[in-house]
Amino acid sequence: MGETIDRYRQLRQRIDAAAVQYGRNPEDVRLVAVSKRQPLDAIRRVIDCGQRDFGENYLQEAEIKIAALAPQALEWHFIGQLQSNKTRQAATLFDWVHSVDRLKIAQRLNDQRPAAAPPLKICIEVNVSGEASKGGILPADVPDFVDSVSALTRLKVRGLMALPAPETDFERQRRAFRQVFSIFAAITRPSFDILSMGTSNDFEAAIAEGSTMVRIGTAVFGPRP
Ligand SMILES: *Cc1c(COP(=O)(O)O)cnc(C)c1O
Repeated sequence: MGETIDRYRQLRQRIDAAAVQYGRNPEDVRLVAVSKRQPLDAIRRVIDCGQRDFGENYLQEAEIKIAALAPQALEWHFIGQLQSNKTRQAATLFDWVHSVDRLKIAQRLNDQRPAAAPPLKICIEVNVSGEASKGGILPADVPDFVDSVSALTRLKVRGLMALPAPETDFERQRRAFRQVFSIFAAITRPSFDILSMGTSNDFEAAIAEGSTMVRIGTAVFGPRP
């Protein structure tokens, strides 16, 4: 039980240390605790440590957790693959969707965002590894895609998201993230300030290359049950 709290505190220290090491302000690196497949009690312990941002991949699972934790002021981030028949649930439950990579999905999220809620915060997923099987917009297509999605008034396009192919070598990790950063830096729009990249495996390399939002599961909660 105390393990989750210890891991969370250690992780926060590693994030801050990486920021300092690479000349970043630790306050500019926001942690999304990826709680997919983790039980509510583990999430509650992390909330007690002050964590407010949580990431989920599966809508049915997320719906139960979000309802159970509703009295707390949390921000929920959808980071999984989104099918078009599930957009209504995502647009209703979440504050953020990180994995937008098709205009049809963006249009549906826009149309289905409840009128009473603020615009849904969006990141555009970039396919840096060039794997055809993976989601994400190809680097050359990102600027036009960002322009198209920005026209949707019930969405607020906040930045880019990337999940490069797993890589153990630190310099290779950095190279993939650097490519995402260069695409990000070329887009000048108001409030386009989020670069969502870095997981348990590679967040230090992501921070070195300008990540402003790391999505970390295992290093917070331990292995997923
Ligand atoms: C599961 C997941 C993460 C977290 O991965 P860990 O290795 O547990 O830190 C981050 N981003 C996405 C898109 C995920 O699906």
